[in-house]
Amino acid sequence: MAVTIRKLNVVKASELGKSMKRITLQGDDLADFPENQESGYVKIRFPKNLDNEPTNSNKDYDLRSYTIRAFDLEKRELVLDFLLHGDSGPASKWASSVQIGDSIEIAGPGPAILAAPADWYLFVGDMTALPAIAVNLEKLPPESRGLALLEINSSEDIQDLIKPDAFEVKWIINSNPLNGCEDLIQAFSCVDIKGENPYVWVAGEFELLRFARKLLKHDKSLPKESLYLSCYWKIGANDPEMKKAKAALILFDSIKNLFSFN
Ligand SMILES: Cc1cc2nc3c(=O)[nH]c(=O)nc-3n(C[C@H](O)[C@H](O)[C@H](O)COP(=O)(O)OP(=O)(O)OC[C@H]3O[C@@H](n4cnc5c(N)ncnc54)[C@H](O)[C@@H]3O)c2cc1C
Repeated sequence: MAVTIRKLNVVKASELGKSMKRITLQGDDLADFPENQESGYVKIRFPKNLDNEPTNSNKDYDLRSYTIRAFDLEKRELVLDFLLHGDSGPASKWASSVQIGDSIEIAGPGPAILAAPADWYLFVGDMTALPAIAVNLEKLPPESRGLALLEINSSEDIQDLIKPDAFEVKWIINSNPLNGCEDLIQAFSCVDIKGENPYVWVAGEFELLRFARKLLKHDKSLPKESLYLSCYWKIGANDPEMKKAKAALILFDSIKNLFSFN
């Protein structure tokens, strides 16, 4: 199936706390972009360093996933929040030095990633998952109860989230996520998952996914309908390498399950 590529321009770029940048993309190519896809993602296309001009094929591009934080069809504007983690990857490098008027191509959207109705919610994530968790909290019914454990790089990264009144948010500061997310995992392991029909949403670094899969799928045996577990990045691996590691982890778990008799 042909993938729709949309060419957009940067119309706004502003700091979001200490470690993120909020970038607004605009263009007539968004005229047929579907609404209500916030928390889903787009793939941004960064041309590879080639001897020739890139063709339209995705193989000539590095593709990186970014969450749709907001979309305004009337204004033809798409808002994405980028964690700035340095110049080692094309996405963070681009976002760090972006200028108003720069153009960029996107594919997508991928499906919205919203929690299913539940009587108690747990969201766990780092800054790459913060845009999707923020959308989820905004969209929950006002009487919803639960907890969000959010790892950020600095206290200046705390965001003013729109959320149900009774919903608890704990910010966990990790000034160097490249050393791992031990405190987040520790806090996660101490959570008492409440309710008869809870929903747990987890995304972030690879080790967080590995821990979440073990805790929720194997130890607590939560049904898959009550879970969203995803890896958004991996220390020391670029996006395609992370995807291979994620696929290997899932395959390894299913082989283990096949030979487990309990
Ligand atoms: C569905 C989905 C939605 C996502 N939404 C968002 C979003 O809204 N905002 C956002 O900021 N990210 C988001 N991410 C994560 C983002 O796609 C990855 O962080 C991606 O690897 C960044 O690409 P890059 O080109 O900057 O680095 P890559 O080329 O992929 O990696 C280069 C190096 O940078 C390191 N690296 C990658 N990500 C990080 C990081 N977060 N912190 C520290 N080091 C890192 C890698 O370990 C590697 O060593 C999302 C990922 C997925 C799968």
